[in-house]
Amino acid sequence: MTPERYQKILRVLRRRQPTLTVLMDEVNKPHNLSAIVRTCDAVGVLEAHAVAPRGGPLATFEGQTYGATSGSAHKWVPVRAHADTLGAVRALQGHGFQVLATHLSQRSVDYRDPDYTRPTCVLLGAEKWGVSDEAAGAADANIVIPMLGMVQSLNVSVAAATILFEAQRQRLAAGLYDAPQLEEADLARLAFEWGYP
Ligand code: SAM
Repeated sequence: MTPERYQKILRVLRRRQPTLTVLMDEVNKPHNLSAIVRTCDAVGVLEAHAVAPRGGPLATFEGQTYGATSGSAHKWVPVRAHADTLGAVRALQGHGFQVLATHLSQRSVDYRDPDYTRPTCVLLGAEKWGVSDEAAGAADANIVIPMLGMVQSLNVSVAAATILFEAQRQRLAAGLYDAPQLEEADLARLAFEWGYP
């Protein structure tokens, strides 16, 4: 590894946000999963979470098939697999994350309203049926991107990018990218793993 490459890895890891993540609930199209993970990398998400589509493995992402039990990792943003959505929501809440379900309900708020400087997980729904009422009910809040046109919803990866960049905007303003959020030991370990895969 060249010194320049090592410096780039350090720069990126110093801006990683262990307190910002997504939970992809049965997102089944590989290009959507791929686009969401790519956005996660761009905003500094350390690791993403996913529940496999019913009865199948997680979508194949860059040659890697994510299975419900595999917990396989992408090179820059590992995707942690969960067996079921409700369990994943509760586990993340147990780790201190507010879970924001992208879901239209009576308690939905504009996606720009929540405080994304708090530990936050954005729950994204399946292309066909969205987030289940059960998972949306268990979430800390329901959020929507206002739709003013003829169609009712965005592509899931577009919705993810819109919301994650609002999170990035708030976190930049709060200075959360200015100092490493990772523990020094984790940063050093990841720098080694990224540099020598
Ligand atoms: N028929 C589904 C429904 O009723 O929810 C549509 C699902 S939409 C194509 C797929 C996912 O994209 C949603 O579950 C949500 O995660 C996200 N999404 C799409 N449009 C959104 C919006 N306007 N606000 C928030 N999330 C949105």
